[in-house]
Amino acid sequence: MIDTDLIPSNHPRAKSLAIRHLLTNGFNSGLVVSEGLIAHGRGEAFDYLIGEKTSTFALDAIKAASSLLLLAEKPVISVNGNVAALCPKEIVDLAYETSSSIEVNLFYRNKKREYLIEETLKKNGANVVLGVGQKEFLKIPELTSNRRHVDPEGIFLADVVFVPLEDGDRTQALINMHKKVITVDLNPLSRTAQNATISIIDNIVRSVPELVKTSRQLKQKSPNSLLKILNNFNNKYNIDNSLKIIRGLKCEQ
Ligand code: ATP
Ligand code: MG
Repeated sequence: MIDTDLIPSNHPRAKSLAIRHLLTNGFNSGLVVSEGLIAHGRGEAFDYLIGEKTSTFALDAIKAASSLLLLAEKPVISVNGNVAALCPKEIVDLAYETSSSIEVNLFYRNKKREYLIEETLKKNGANVVLGVGQKEFLKIPELTSNRRHVDPEGIFLADVVFVPLEDGDRTQALINMHKKVITVDLNPLSRTAQNATISIIDNIVRSVPELVKTSRQLKQKSPNSLLKILNNFNNKYNIDNSLKIIRGLKCEQ
């Protein structure tokens, strides 16, 4: 186990090193798979390019995402190993603020990891965690990986699914099932970011706490004002401008 106290607080990359340690600790405890570490590395590269801060475009996407979750009839938050290692408490808080269910969904599914993620979420305050155990899972059409197995009471029935750090194939399959999909993905060019209904181009460790805060504020508003926020949001504009930040180009505000 690596001791995060070893990172000097004045180290220029202290934050991103601390995030790495959450991942490596998750790997050592069995939450995260080795492929998850590599996926994080891809995300880190994009985070470096966007300046390791949440852009105004990401903040707009977060507002729209909160509105969509609050307006949904059956919102579900999908959790994989990296998400459970990086922000378990904030995911539970978001589920509480938006009355969403939480479902474990793994690319590399095995019972041990399912239970480990469930345990992590429960330690952080979750009551019910779907997608775990012996029950009969249903299959998302068109997908061949283990990720096609979904809980019949969760993602299968959901109208809105929040799938942070998701794979492109599954995002497309969920869209094909007429679900609205929200993602957090640092890569604006990934198939997930390109195909989701709302793409938050930001690091999950920054955006999920912001989603919690925003949902807490927006749930005081009327459904009509939430609809207005949603209707004013344009995901293509959001992605295009996030890409401009990465390319060092001037953005339209
Ligand atoms: P896609 O399948 O959508 O085309 P991909 O195959 O490039 O994307 P995956 O491994 O399927 O990538 O998904 C992981 C995604 O999560 C990557 O786009 C990566 O940039 C992003 N990512 C990794 N770590 C983080 C993080 N901490 N915050 C936000 N996004 C992240
Ligand atoms: Mg992929």
